[in-house]
Amino acid sequence: MSERSYFDWNATTPMREEAQRAFADAMAVVGNPSSVHAEGRSARRLVEHARDDVAALVGARPADVFFTSSGTEANMLALTPAIETVGERRVRDRLLMSAIEHSSVRSGGRFLRDAIFDIPVGGDGQIDLDALSDAVAKASRPLVSIMLANNETGVLQPVAAAAAIVHAAGGLLHVDAVQAAGRIPCDMGALGADLLTLSAHKIGGAKGVGALVRRGDDIHIADPLIRGGGQERSMRAGTENVAGIAAFGAAAAAARNGRAVEAERMSALRSALEAGLKTISPQAVIFGAGAERLPNTTLFALEGVKAETAVIAFDLEGVAVSSGAACSSGKVQPSHVLAAMGISPALLRGGVRVSLGWTTTEADIERFHSAWRKLATALSKERQGVAA
Ligand code: PLP
Repeated sequence: MSERSYFDWNATTPMREEAQRAFADAMAVVGNPSSVHAEGRSARRLVEHARDDVAALVGARPADVFFTSSGTEANMLALTPAIETVGERRVRDRLLMSAIEHSSVRSGGRFLRDAIFDIPVGGDGQIDLDALSDAVAKASRPLVSIMLANNETGVLQPVAAAAAIVHAAGGLLHVDAVQAAGRIPCDMGALGADLLTLSAHKIGGAKGVGALVRRGDDIHIADPLIRGGGQERSMRAGTENVAGIAAFGAAAAAARNGRAVEAERMSALRSALEAGLKTISPQAVIFGAGAERLPNTTLFALEGVKAETAVIAFDLEGVAVSSGAACSSGKVQPSHVLAAMGISPALLRGGVRVSLGWTTTEADIERFHSAWRKLATALSKERQGVAA
């Protein structure tokens, strides 16, 4: 067993070997993809090969993939009132988003504050489709942003059903698929997504690379975020991150090929993890457990255990987990995701997120259990001491 057990795959994944190789090979290519000479054409080939593989991961056409510097940038690029469709050049009047989106969506992109509206979620962490229907009816040309899988709970959202509601109301749907891609099937057509965000470092690529994918060339973002040269068909200026993009392509191909097998293995490991957790601490709450979730994610809390205390205790035992919610200066903020789910205030700062990946083994799960047992035992002794 390795020295440490890494359970923070939703924060970032290790680079897959295929991606590392593609990255290293691309670093040896000298050309600028925009140059016409042989060196430039070699670099261009790497970028376009990667575009094919990223497109295939989400069932899109390569011409509809635009590389960016991150999932965050892709979300910013997508969330603009200036999205034109064939036959409709008027701006989107509202941005509707689920209350549990990642902060890069919650920031609202380029919409004004008073044009942004929240769609609530239920206690299971899934978006309320009736509330979505009501909200789209109040807008004339809404842009709706719904994530496919939540980064804290792993809960999957009913995106295809939401797409039908949004489209019937004349709206467009943006889907943040950063956590879902490579873990569950993620086909743009089946989802009904008009725009979709990906991030390379969540699927085994390099950090600092992402993509915005559109459903077809009938969708046009009229105000790109970064203007200058004509790279990415003028949708994202700046010389391409050739090595990062090449690695993204290799990671996308590996993720696509291995997805079904990896998902099954992770789901079995996650079940074992949760069963052991409940045996040690029957009072532990696993959030979103009643809903369909990513196969690799567990978010749990135990009343009286602060997330930051648990994260540090796990770390000392060689186990890397994270607090579900954002952390600033080492202090965990109440989770907006758990708050939106109506979780009791006593648990809002307690969410511990355990996320698995393709290198996770049964030995890692055992190490997790023994670390948790130690923490839970110490805690109950402390409580008995206080009570005595
Ligand atoms: N969207 C979701 C759901 C995420 O979990 C993240 C990162 O954690 C992002 C977007 C941002 O991606 P990136 O780290 O590439 O900026």
